[in-house]
Amino acid sequence: MTKAVALLSGGLDSTLAVHLMKSLGVEVVALNFTTVFCRCNRGGSCKSEAKKVSEALRIPVKMLNITASFLRLVKRPKYGYGKNMNPCIDCRINMFRMAGEFMREIGADFIITGEVLGQRPMSQRREAMKIIEKEAGVEGLVLRPLCARHMPPTIPEKVGLVDRQKLLDFKGRGRKGQMQLADVFELKDYPCPAGGCLLTDPMFAHRIKELFNHDIGCELGDIHLLKVGRHYRLDDRTKAVVGRREEENHLIEHYAQPTDALLMLTDLTGPLCLVRGSLTEENLRLAAGLVARSSKARTLFSVRITVKLDGVERVIETAPLDAARAQELLIVKKKESAISREWHCHPSEAERG
Ligand code: SF4
Repeated sequence: MTKAVALLSGGLDSTLAVHLMKSLGVEVVALNFTTVFCRCNRGGSCKSEAKKVSEALRIPVKMLNITASFLRLVKRPKYGYGKNMNPCIDCRINMFRMAGEFMREIGADFIITGEVLGQRPMSQRREAMKIIEKEAGVEGLVLRPLCARHMPPTIPEKVGLVDRQKLLDFKGRGRKGQMQLADVFELKDYPCPAGGCLLTDPMFAHRIKELFNHDIGCELGDIHLLKVGRHYRLDDRTKAVVGRREEENHLIEHYAQPTDALLMLTDLTGPLCLVRGSLTEENLRLAAGLVARSSKARTLFSVRITVKLDGVERVIETAPLDAARAQELLIVKKKESAISREWHCHPSEAERG
């Protein structure tokens, strides 16, 4: 029986591609990639979305967290970034390369994806698709059932494993064809296509770019922190992260490392602040002023702030930081400062990324 590896995100397009291939009698094994940059837009997780789809389609799925290799690409992409910090071409090369290895490992004949020519500006251009396949070592082995008739015939079509006439000719950004096909396959509850990757979010992209500009050696823990709270740049090496809600305080505490300082109001409940970098007295006092400014104590002349560092607690008395100064330190993309975004997963999910 003809066998294919499907790149399955759990979104509509990859789901349709699998349906179509199954309807043509191809055995499909799915591969799902997650990274720390996946955005869970349905209150579940990227993994659970792909799992749900694979269960509904009765196909096996292999879940792979590729954060480590992906983070290296995000820092220095060979083919550059898209509109924000999304290195889509490098990212697809990485995924296709792994899909190729998996295909050989399980004895599959080719790879399928839900890509549609011209749907995404960076990685779904004809030229980019060619580069991706070539660099990933899977030239001619990637069948895109939704737009195959616009593409040169692939090896499985040429050798007669798949009938090209039964493949589709979707093209561009419109979704009408996909919606109609979803009706044919009686798919009702599918995720909105706008979910996906945090690197395409302008505000998150601004944060990560700012981080890379100061610390290109940053690690996974720094990336998790980027999803939480307000971020302030205290000096070239030092940042403060201030929780906006109780849930964010918990996450900040969860991601704190032994070398970080944690600051909080001594006499009231309020934001938790993590300081990472150069923990000088000057920076800790600045962060203490930020905690007071971000709390309900912001109108007081003097506020007591507890500082936890190296297992030792002490109290600093400070005035709330001037609002204009706090704004100066805030890492924020201009014009979007009023928007508060939710980027984090539940800690149990975040832990895996
Ligand atoms: S949007 Fe993100 S996950 Fe998707 S191809 Fe681009 S970098 Fe990769």
